[in-house]
Amino acid sequence: MKIYGEIAKVRETVKAWKAQGLTVGFVPTMGYLHEGHKSLIDAARKENDRVVVSIFVNPMQFGPKEDLASYPRDLDKDAKLCEAAGVDVIFHPEPEEMYTPQFCSYVDMNGLTTELCGKTRPTHFRGVQTVVLKLFHIVTPDRAYFGQKDAQQLAVIKRMVTDLNVDVQIIGCPIIREEDGLAKSSRNTYLNAEERKAALVLSRSLKLGKELVAKGEKSAEAVKKVITEEIEKEPLAKIDYVEVVDFDTITPTETIGKSVLVAIAVYIGKTRLIDNFIVEA
Ligand code: AMP
Repeated sequence: MKIYGEIAKVRETVKAWKAQGLTVGFVPTMGYLHEGHKSLIDAARKENDRVVVSIFVNPMQFGPKEDLASYPRDLDKDAKLCEAAGVDVIFHPEPEEMYTPQFCSYVDMNGLTTELCGKTRPTHFRGVQTVVLKLFHIVTPDRAYFGQKDAQQLAVIKRMVTDLNVDVQIIGCPIIREEDGLAKSSRNTYLNAEERKAALVLSRSLKLGKELVAKGEKSAEAVKKVITEEIEKEPLAKIDYVEVVDFDTITPTETIGKSVLVAIAVYIGKTRLIDNFIVEA
């Protein structure tokens, strides 16, 4: 496995692979890798001849008051996980490699980014889209893997690739959870013992919502109500949003039907956590 910080090195390597007719799978991450990231790497490993993982804490997707400086980083540990999972190349650029001082071009969207996380993080998805398109141009993967954990991000990337005719297949992968139900996240490391227990309210409340849907409930309001009431019982939790939207367009819907996303964001102390489920049928 190689670790490259330079764009030119990645391009050179991928060009040589493509000249041999090999396929390339790509997993973009911000590092501090866990089983959730590993599930994406495993999927990429199965379906492609070569696998590239990027590890880049992208300054552009953090708001001015967000956790860019404190975001956890551990390249040595990440490299071990990647090596064991059969990754061929880690791309780990410095911010200066990705953004020259003259940088002034962005990818943005009119829809999909205004609801859910877009409300409290108004510049977040512009940063995500811009860096992901740049990474696609650098790595030129056949397939790219994203977690349903960040369901709005997955929808945004799918839309961007369709709208801008990017020649890559986007593959969504299921949410990987801790044994007790908490969705795995690099940000879980911010939680103290008491908050870690309180954080279970996210998966617990969504389970209640899911059970209601399974019983045949079609009203988005009713599902939001049961989730909201459960979260409000937890003193350390503060709701950012509890929403029911169409998964493709990320617009609110009143009726639970096919391809509906039930998504929540909740502060546990100072840590903002997200979780969701998708109604398939
Ligand atoms: P991040 O490093 O948080 O930017 O995440 C990189 C990729 O890993 C994104 O596509 C995430 O959706 C995905 N991911 C993060 N946590 C999980 C999880 N618990 N299960 C599945 N995918 C995840």
